[in-house]
Amino acid sequence: MNVLLLGSGGREHALAWKLARSPSLDTLFAAPGNPGIAAHATCLPLDATDHGGVATFCAANAIGLVVIGPEAPLVDGLADSLRAAGVPVFGPGRAAAQLEGSKGFTKDLCARAGIPTAGYRRVTDRDTAIAALTGTFGLPVVIKADGLAAGKGVTVAMTRDEAMTAIDALFAQPGGEAVIEEFLGGEEVSLFVLTDGTTLVPFGTAQDHKRVGEGDTGPNTGGMGAYSPARILTPDLEQQAIDTIVRPTVDAMRDEGMPFVGVLYAGLMLTAQGPKLIEYNARFGDPETQVLMLRHEGDLVALMLATATGRLHEVPAPAFSSQAALTVVMAARGYPGTPAAGGAIDGIAAAEATGATVFHAGTRTQGDTLVAAGGRVLAVTALGDGVAAAQAAAYRAIDALDFPDGFCRRDIGWREVAREAT
Ligand code: ATP
Repeated sequence: MNVLLLGSGGREHALAWKLARSPSLDTLFAAPGNPGIAAHATCLPLDATDHGGVATFCAANAIGLVVIGPEAPLVDGLADSLRAAGVPVFGPGRAAAQLEGSKGFTKDLCARAGIPTAGYRRVTDRDTAIAALTGTFGLPVVIKADGLAAGKGVTVAMTRDEAMTAIDALFAQPGGEAVIEEFLGGEEVSLFVLTDGTTLVPFGTAQDHKRVGEGDTGPNTGGMGAYSPARILTPDLEQQAIDTIVRPTVDAMRDEGMPFVGVLYAGLMLTAQGPKLIEYNARFGDPETQVLMLRHEGDLVALMLATATGRLHEVPAPAFSSQAALTVVMAARGYPGTPAAGGAIDGIAAAEATGATVFHAGTRTQGDTLVAAGGRVLAVTALGDGVAAAQAAAYRAIDALDFPDGFCRRDIGWREVAREAT
């Protein structure tokens, strides 16, 4: 089968790496891809916003499955256009992608289906937002822009001043829409589920590290590292999250005529009252995909095709290595502000010679040199017998890299490493 993968980040390199190992694969195409993906796929400059152009490419190249990596083309309805052209797609249509694309939509769905999540108010003007702040929630309080904001639309306000600043920023332009939320305390964990709209199968757990600084300090980023499995989500808690959060969501979406097809990524808070939903993403996480792909055992093309074509009940449940995987992001100096562009990268072969896998997140070639071309540049990923062993292996590989303009956190996995030590 010929497969087309859309995207250009570390998540897509990890997907390409795994898809390329699939016995069901004939040819893998990627658009636009990156220098790492180019080792596994034929990369092309297809424009994902040109739905007709992508459909024409699929017809001309006998594409049997399209895998959409990032959220923007999903929210833009690319999956609907391709399905209408008869192409199986791993990824939800526009209506179902609202689970990620509109925080207000998801909160309303949770309210209708009785799904445990933070208390909330949807607001469309500054005065109502301030009234919600005053009348409904204490401090801390969480203020979220309604739509996609690449992780930058959320403020966890510790003081009323911070909350007011966030509200003023959100309603500086007319047409702002926001959600004001009750603050939930606890540890965060990510749960991944594949669903064809009816059947759902768990697809692993992970914990990511969103802050740029060690000890989870400093500004938010797209993610500085992750590990899997996240054992803090015990089998009992995972089942509870599926029964009370994910299953009711999948059922409600189907019953309301918006079946969700693809990977549903639930960001959970483990509260004293059990798991509560923080957010949904309608696609794989970055860098969580890097650790999931290293642990996944089996034919990913067959699994994604079964998901895309409503046959998930016919295929064996996904299997994962009992080993832990850990990924450390090498970012360009200055990230998440203005990252230094063009820094030379060397030593990838030496890093991989240690046994690790180096995924490209933001690189490009300049002549014979590989250079940084983004905030997050590489994701150095390793397996080990436990998170501490995987962490040691990932940092051994990092130390073999030569990327003077890069930096990373040295403490990825710290919570689980501490738990393993007790
Ligand atoms: P991303 O896509 O980068 O995960 P996002 O912009 O979609 O982020 P959320 O995941 O909803 O936004 O929130 C970002 C972070 O803010 C969460 O990972 C969590 O740490 C914190 N957060 C969000 N909602 C709450 C809440 N109700 N209580 C406590 N913390 C919260």
